[in-house]
Amino acid sequence: MADYDLAIIGGGLNGVSMARDAAGRGLRVILLEQGDLGAGASAASPRLIHGDLAVLERRALLRVRAAWAERDIWLRTAPHLVRPTRFAVPSHSGERPPWLLRSWLLLYDRLAPSTGLPASATIDITHHPVGNALRRPFGAAFEYSGGVVDDSRLVVLNAVDAAERGADIRTGARCVRADRLDVWRLVAIDRGHRRVITAGALANASGAWTATVAETVLRLPLPDLGVSQISQIVVRRLFDTDHVYVFQNHDRRLIFASPYERDFTLIGTVTRPFKGDPAVVSATAADAAYLCDAANRYFRERVEPSDVVRTISGANAVIDPAGRRGARDGSMAFDRPRGQAPLITIFAGDITTARLRAERAVSKLTPFYPMSPRWTAQAALPGGDFAWTRFDAEVEGARERWRFLNEAQAQRLIAAYGSRLAAVLGDAKDRADLGQAFGPELTAAEVRYLMAKEWARFPDDILWRRSKLGLTMPPGDRDALAAFMAAAA
Ligand SMILES: Cc1cc2nc3c(=O)[nH]c(=O)nc-3n(C[C@H](O)[C@H](O)[C@H](O)COP(=O)(O)OP(=O)(O)OC[C@H]3O[C@@H](n4cnc5c(N)ncnc54)[C@H](O)[C@@H]3O)c2cc1C
Repeated sequence: MADYDLAIIGGGLNGVSMARDAAGRGLRVILLEQGDLGAGASAASPRLIHGDLAVLERRALLRVRAAWAERDIWLRTAPHLVRPTRFAVPSHSGERPPWLLRSWLLLYDRLAPSTGLPASATIDITHHPVGNALRRPFGAAFEYSGGVVDDSRLVVLNAVDAAERGADIRTGARCVRADRLDVWRLVAIDRGHRRVITAGALANASGAWTATVAETVLRLPLPDLGVSQISQIVVRRLFDTDHVYVFQNHDRRLIFASPYERDFTLIGTVTRPFKGDPAVVSATAADAAYLCDAANRYFRERVEPSDVVRTISGANAVIDPAGRRGARDGSMAFDRPRGQAPLITIFAGDITTARLRAERAVSKLTPFYPMSPRWTAQAALPGGDFAWTRFDAEVEGARERWRFLNEAQAQRLIAAYGSRLAAVLGDAKDRADLGQAFGPELTAAEVRYLMAKEWARFPDDILWRRSKLGLTMPPGDRDALAAFMAAAA
């Protein structure tokens, strides 16, 4: 018998979602990630949970309906990571006419299940907070309900759940060879050690590396795939509301600006074909200038490339190298030549539908293994076992229990750990009980938790993926954190 039922190459959102789904259905799963969980495209998503107007524009109504159903599942199962948010589309006659936007949103409402989120509406932005940050010419905007998700924590918490259901999650483990017999025989370099593993089925979920892994690791032909790069910029906070702004750019692309980590605004996205090593992808000066220009058409406060605090980029495999198809829809292929072990190839796709994509992919293995029924639509992610309407109450409860937390700190911690916060803070009575401090918010207690329970090994794993505290951490504290983690490891 093989060591595992399913081996997965890649610890991005597609890989961990499959690991969680399969482990919960009773399969013995191993996931191999060459670096850190979510270090690829999955931490560079637009972080939006929505039906996507661009998809509606392509008349992909079934996709929009599926996305809305998934939005409600995320709110139920990850109320800490996903915040319901109003999206605002300022209307003007230059691009899509107002009547067209309004009819799209009416269609949105028809496709969305009714779960307590407000329906779309027209707002007079001359008398609405949404208008405060905007330049004069805009009189009206259309609003609809979506969500914003912490993408990299979504990856990690899927992996935590998978591990708690029995999956073996190996970070720093690169799959270098996979031979297909009646089972798969894999060779991995696992934290410097060569390791041989056998698995009944294999999933190639290696994102931008999908074609390289197929060609050099599996040594199997794969249809031509392109690689696209997505980039976003982070600037100081440009508006006071919690809305996500959706702007129609002059090239008909939809550009969004969303609140980011309390004091910042995230503006995206720009997509372009990518060539090179996906591990070293970065936004170009032209990408930053394009996004600043798009924002400057709408916001009163100008942003220049010199105002960019950070750029966020990721690369991913796409069927259409121009970056349209494949990126949003995602792709999955299944094959099993007679007498040989099954292979699933899964890549791209938006965050909103990742759970569903994984469920469908794992279901391909139903003929080979006895599996329990689909389950992920009902089960909360770790720390998410409370109603999304109670987020503020959870924050309040945290402040009552740990009286040294201010409002902003409690919000960050509940958004990250939800009901598991006690496992991070324990019985601390004041901040000093949490040990050494790194920057204004991070403490030794949190670092230890992330190393013990969430596979954090290096400062960037914590500063940019388990949190975004890198935005406010002074360089000296970063060095102290590196020394602390090296000693703790
Ligand atoms: C062009 C583009 C457009 C996008 N559009 C959207 C959008 O419209 N909406 C939205 O929500 N999101 C969008 N996304 C982001 C979305 O989050 C990603 O599509 C999705 O997360 C892909 O996840 P993944 O797991 O396939 O890839 P990744 O997150 O890149 O994960 C792949 C992982 O495989 C690992 N790996 C590779 N080779 C090996 C090996 N040999 N051994 C072990 N591990 C290996 C890598 O280290 C990496 O961590 C877009 C992304 C891109 C790049």
